[in-house]
Amino acid sequence: MNERRTSCKLNFPILIADDNILQRKVLEKTLKESGHEVVAASDGRQAIEIFKSGYYPIIISDRVMPNMSGLELCRTIRDNFQDQFTYFILLSALDSKADVRKAMDAGIDEYLIKPVKPTDLFLRLATARRVLHLEQTLRRSLEEARQLATTDSLTHIYNRGFLDERLPMEVKRAFRYDRPLSVIFSDIDHFKLINDTYGHRAGDEVLKDFARRIKGHVREEVDWLARYGGEEFVVILPETDIDGAMIVANRLKNAIANSPITVDAAAIGITASFGAASFSPKGKPDAGKMAIELLGRADRCLYAAKEGGRNRCEGARLN
Ligand code: GH3
Ligand code: MG
Ligand code: MG
Repeated sequence: MNERRTSCKLNFPILIADDNILQRKVLEKTLKESGHEVVAASDGRQAIEIFKSGYYPIIISDRVMPNMSGLELCRTIRDNFQDQFTYFILLSALDSKADVRKAMDAGIDEYLIKPVKPTDLFLRLATARRVLHLEQTLRRSLEEARQLATTDSLTHIYNRGFLDERLPMEVKRAFRYDRPLSVIFSDIDHFKLINDTYGHRAGDEVLKDFARRIKGHVREEVDWLARYGGEEFVVILPETDIDGAMIVANRLKNAIANSPITVDAAAIGITASFGAASFSPKGKPDAGKMAIELLGRADRCLYAAKEGGRNRCEGARLN
């Protein structure tokens, strides 16, 4: 009874594989009655097909099966599905040390000798749940740490570190698919004056709103932006040539200039300058070098926009 409650509380879906229809049905019934979500396969190959269409954190598999054995099933899972952990319990009538060793070498987590008593199986499932729970917690912590490391804490967009790491990948992708790539460098005009007039906190609010507005005016899930530093931001526009980038830059310029940012009771009117640069894939790239050149060219265009009177966009092609 206690066991049943525990398994309901931390229920991980289970995939079972057994060619013996009677054993499979009994196992399925036992697990379902204890509150588990169960999907059954009649051999290893079928189990792989099911696994491909949806992740199962726990697999309980027979050892000897036609088409694909339990050991082959385990090896295939370990070799091909490394993104998420699967707790693999093998059921076998073979009980020699060498048999167990061979199964361990294939990557199994638990070995149960048939006939298996339900209490023994439930004990192993409790261990499986503990391991999976731990793995999930670790995965979440890693994801949080990764997010912290790549996010700017003020504006919650990507930071410079992420830009440096990811831009060369975007360059590589552009070459692989033979597509143009553009970047836009932007810098808020006379931002120092905003800090001096309204205070640093108001300046921070302006930066946050600036990032929000830029994000709201580019393609969702395709374009992305990073805070380069201070009041400088970079927008990455995959699949976009210089004409497209200039359209976007002008749209962003207007989105910033057209309505003031309200901080406390003050309506703070700001403008920003934009420099765009793009390239079309030609020859063999050095992705890192190309990323630096692209940013450098966009930065020079930004400088020209500032020189030209601010609240302006300038752009250039690299090739
Ligand atoms: P320009 O039009 O030539 O870009 O002039 P500017 O005043 O915007 O440029 P400048 O580089 O002289 O000043 C940038 C200012 O941005 C100075 C710095 O104190 C401020 N700044 C940098 N980071 C932050 C931040 O995180 N918060 C706030 N509030 N201000 C920041
Ligand atoms: Mg500035
Ligand atoms: Mg600046």
